[in-house]
Amino acid sequence: MNFTETDEQQALRAAVADLGGKYGYAYYTRQARAGGRLTELWQEAGKLGFLGVNLPAEYGGGGAGLYELAIVLEELAAAGCGLLMMVVSPAICGTIIARFGTDEQRRFWLPRLASGATIMAFGITEPDAGSNSHRLATVATRDGDTWVLTGRKIFISGVDEAEAVLIVGRTADAKTGTLRPALFIVPTDAPGFTYRPIEMDIVMPEKQFLLFLDDVRLPADALVGEESAALQQLFAGLNPERIMASAMAIGSGRYALDRAVSYAKERTVWSVPIGAHQGLAHPLAQVKVELELARLMMQKAATLYDAGHDMAAGEAANMAKYAAAEASVRTVDQAIQALGGSSMTQEFGLAAMLANVRTTRIAPVSREMILNFVAQYSLGLPKSY
Ligand SMILES: Cc1cc2nc3c(=O)[nH]c(=O)nc-3n(C[C@H](O)[C@H](O)[C@H](O)COP(=O)(O)OP(=O)(O)OC[C@H]3O[C@@H](n4cnc5c(N)ncnc54)[C@H](O)[C@@H]3O)c2cc1C
Repeated sequence: MNFTETDEQQALRAAVADLGGKYGYAYYTRQARAGGRLTELWQEAGKLGFLGVNLPAEYGGGGAGLYELAIVLEELAAAGCGLLMMVVSPAICGTIIARFGTDEQRRFWLPRLASGATIMAFGITEPDAGSNSHRLATVATRDGDTWVLTGRKIFISGVDEAEAVLIVGRTADAKTGTLRPALFIVPTDAPGFTYRPIEMDIVMPEKQFLLFLDDVRLPADALVGEESAALQQLFAGLNPERIMASAMAIGSGRYALDRAVSYAKERTVWSVPIGAHQGLAHPLAQVKVELELARLMMQKAATLYDAGHDMAAGEAANMAKYAAAEASVRTVDQAIQALGGSSMTQEFGLAAMLANVRTTRIAPVSREMILNFVAQYSLGLPKSY
């Protein structure tokens, strides 16, 4: 076990922090409020090789691991400008295609996902299934050489920016008729595929969409990997998703805490800076501890994942996501307290960030579903649902 990052990892952290520093939280919120995107930052990060750092070198990636991709997202978020689509495009979609895609899928998608030239969204959530993925009702039917896909998806991020969506559907077993999951790459301009933005109540540049798949006809090679191994493939992508969501939440927490600490050192309304009052200093110290604990679990999950221990990584990734959501929500809330009234202004504020980190308690998997997993898988307790 080694708690010191390599020289390369430290250099990556510093280089990403430099890039994040050029953009920052003002850029992030300005783009979000104007209905804009983070395109300049995305493209620059892509050119510098940050977006595909985890993808195989032979397909244009950096040949490193998820640990390094999490460094990139954590540092951007710590600069106030986390890129949500990193959770989806290189982490979920890139990983699944790299591990299970055909040679042709790898050659076609990976270099462009790695450079950031293209974005792939990911659609699993459905209006009537929610947290219960056994109820997924998007079904793919084989018709000669093609697949025909029908269903609905909800809350899918970044579809307007994406060239395709990796859709989790289900296929019927030819013999038994039993439905089992299968993953399809669906181009966003495919006939029968339409999408509508959802009016969200959060200040976030990435938008969420309702998807309608009405008899979307796809070539046979739209299926990723094996029909029979889709569950394993899905988890190979969902663990990175949880680790990356943790990285984004922890980075945001670090940003808020930095802001609070700077403010608490300067702001003086009695005879000493407000940070000298233990009523303010202790809660800030407490969230620092909580963030570091969550970060350690995220790093453990990423290390296990990169070492190929998928089951152990799954348990750690769930725990990391739980801890990161809790720590970041408490940190941003406490940072808001430290900034007083200024926290509610657009110029200095952190109020909007609270809703964003709060999302981590719900997505990509809710706090309750993680506790269900830990209760059953880690503790061996009976299932309640
Ligand atoms: C900003 C944002 C971006 C998103 N981006 C994407 C995306 O890109 N792709 C995608 O596929 N999805 C995306 N999602 C969807 C997200 O993954 C879901 O919202 C999440 O999985 C929860 O599903 P739900 O909203 O349907 O909640 P529900 O399943 O309806 O649950 C509602 C509440 O009930 C609780 N609950 C449900 N079942 C149980 C149980 N058995 N025991 C205890 N409690 C339970 C849940 O924990 C939750 O608190 C996004 C969501 C948001 C908010």
